[in-house]
Parts: sequence; C-alpha cells; structure tokens
Amino acid sequence: MGHIAKNIAEIRATLPPTTNLVAVSKYHPIEAVAEAYAAGQRIFGESRAQELREKAEALPKDIEWHFIGHLQPNKVKYIAPFISLIHAVDTPKLLAEIHRQAEKNGRVIPCLLQLHVAAEETKYGFTPDEAWQFLESGEWRNYPNAQISGVMCMATNTDDETRIRHDFQVAHDFFLRAQSSFFADAPHFTQCSWGMSDDYPIAIAEGSTLVRIGSKIFCE
Ligand SMILES: *Cc1c(COP(=O)(O)O)cnc(C)c1O
Repeated sequence: MGHIAKNIAEIRATLPPTTNLVAVSKYHPIEAVAEAYAAGQRIFGESRAQELREKAEALPKDIEWHFIGHLQPNKVKYIAPFISLIHAVDTPKLLAEIHRQAEKNGRVIPCLLQLHVAAEETKYGFTPDEAWQFLESGEWRNYPNAQISGVMCMATNTDDETRIRHDFQVAHDFFLRAQSSFFADAPHFTQCSWGMSDDYPIAIAEGSTLVRIGSKIFCE
C-alpha cells in the first residue's frame, strides 16, 4: 500500500460515522489525487479555482469537489457548474454571487458560513456576531440557490489545546443556535467543517462533521 492509501486508512479508522473526510489535495499533483481515489476517497478539497477545474476535468466524475479556501466572487463562475460544497463564505457579496452563478447553471450550491473564531487577525470570515446579524437580517433568503448548510472555521494556530477546543466550541455553539433559530425547517443545515491535520481529533470531539485534512494524507 502506498503512503497515501495508508494515511487515509489510518485517519478513517479514527473517524466516527458522523464525520466525513475531505482530502485536501491543493498543491498536490493529479497522480496523488488518483492514488487517494484508488484508496476509496471521494471527497476532495481545493483552494484555487483554476487548479480545481484542471483536476476535476482530469479525474473521475464521481468525485465530490469542495472549495475550502478564500474564494473571490469573480472566480465563482469557474466552479459553479460542478462544485459540491463551498466551505468558506465570508461575505454577503460572495453568497449573492454564488446564488447568481448557481441559478445560471440551474443548480443549488451548498455553502457554509466561515466564522472567524481564531485569535489571529489575518483570517477571513464573519465574527459570530456578524454572522448572527447577517442571518437575522434575512438577506440570505434572497439567495436560495446558495444554500447555507452549516458553518466552517479554522482554530487558532497554536499548540494550546485549550484554545483550539475553545475556538471549535464557539463555532459549534453558533451552529446549534443558528440551527434552532433560523434553520429549524431546513434539514440540509447539518454541516460543521473544522479540523485539519494538526487538530482534527479535537475537532471531532467538538462536533465536526467534515474534517479537512491535507498534509497528513499527502505528505510522507
Ligand atoms: C490547506 C487547508 C487545509 C488542510 O490543512 P493541513 O494542515 O494540510 O491538513 C484545511 N483547510 C483549509 C481552509 C486549508 O486551506
């Protein structure tokens, strides 16, 4: 078994049935994705529209492609025909553009709101207060083809497990409150995207339904 298949098997063995693995293949070649595919992996995450399109064209059509990084509104059109989930909606403007492009393609595109919960200033996303205000405003109801299906976050980049756990708890608490206040009638509002190579065990314990793992799969 190659190292990619072995890494995937090891990670899978630790995931509860409620958590899905997004294999983050950004910067890794098509051959590496093909190896993961051969090992049974079907969900892949990319963070650049051009790279994602090239890989999607070259690889089997039953792959579920997720866009996981910062997405500029003017790039949505390149991925709108086929993208399965956009993880990091960080502005109302982006949500509006996803709706527009999804409608053009006769699709509904599931999306997650990116929450800024980390200590770093540089990361994208809504603060929980901003996200709450946005949901309360009802503006998103004008964009039904961009279907808000949950929330996403990145924890603080630190070795302090208490801080990481806290960040995920803030996001999970937001998810639960949003679910009961705005999405009680929306069975698709189910996804909590958090956890990367260094912190996914904590993320799973704190309610993650989608872990986004790159280096632990693709690097030896
Ligand atoms: C690159 C990336 C990941 C994967 O990070 P690893 O530490 O390599 O597992 C997860 N989420 C986002 C948003 C990323 O950009």
